[in-house]
Amino acid sequence: MKHKLLILLVEDEAGISNFISTVLTSNDYNVIQAEKGKDAIALAASHSPDLILLDLGLPDMDGIQVLEKIRSWSNIPIIVVSARGHEREKVEALDLGADDYITKPFGISELLARIRTEVRHSQNLQDENHAADGKVKVGGLDIDYDKRIVKVDNKEVHLTPIEYKIIVLLSKNIGKVLTHDYIIKEIWGPFINENQTLRVNMANIRRKIEANPAEPKYIVTEVGVGYRMMDEV
Ligand code: CA
Repeated sequence: MKHKLLILLVEDEAGISNFISTVLTSNDYNVIQAEKGKDAIALAASHSPDLILLDLGLPDMDGIQVLEKIRSWSNIPIIVVSARGHEREKVEALDLGADDYITKPFGISELLARIRTEVRHSQNLQDENHAADGKVKVGGLDIDYDKRIVKVDNKEVHLTPIEYKIIVLLSKNIGKVLTHDYIIKEIWGPFINENQTLRVNMANIRRKIEANPAEPKYIVTEVGVGYRMMDEV
């Protein structure tokens, strides 16, 4: 029998919590529910779930505090659930070690996709996009790390070294959002904080890889937060 993954669902609104729980259960996950931050921390410690879905608006404490507390001892994947317009809260959560976020109200397929991505990353499994020989393929986009070649629809794309580094960083975190600060630190080091430079490079990358740079399908903008390379297009 297949070992079912255990998800800790932290949500204080019973209606939402029960609905999500039903959906997850019917998708073959085991679910434990917590309504309060205090209970969430206790259950995370006692049950060692495979993933935590953490609403940031909780009655007894700030979800950010719950995140910090759990992160102080555990690398369990945590997806935070945040309200629309709370971009600063999302960035803060990501900087404090959340793996991703999802914005309320969200669709079920979006939620399930996020969960699959995090579980895959945390288990370090190779998905079908990642061949063992160091390649990523998503839609018409091919990245070959060994040959350092990027192709779109079988045509080689000429990227600057910085553009190549950015696309590799995003592709190695495929499906996950990366914050502006994180990308800038990874690419330029800790001494530059130049959002403009990243934007310019991203515009150039999109001009080279996207059929319609104004409506990118490979690398999407997460407004106020950062960029995400999609693992399905
Ligand atoms: Ca709430």
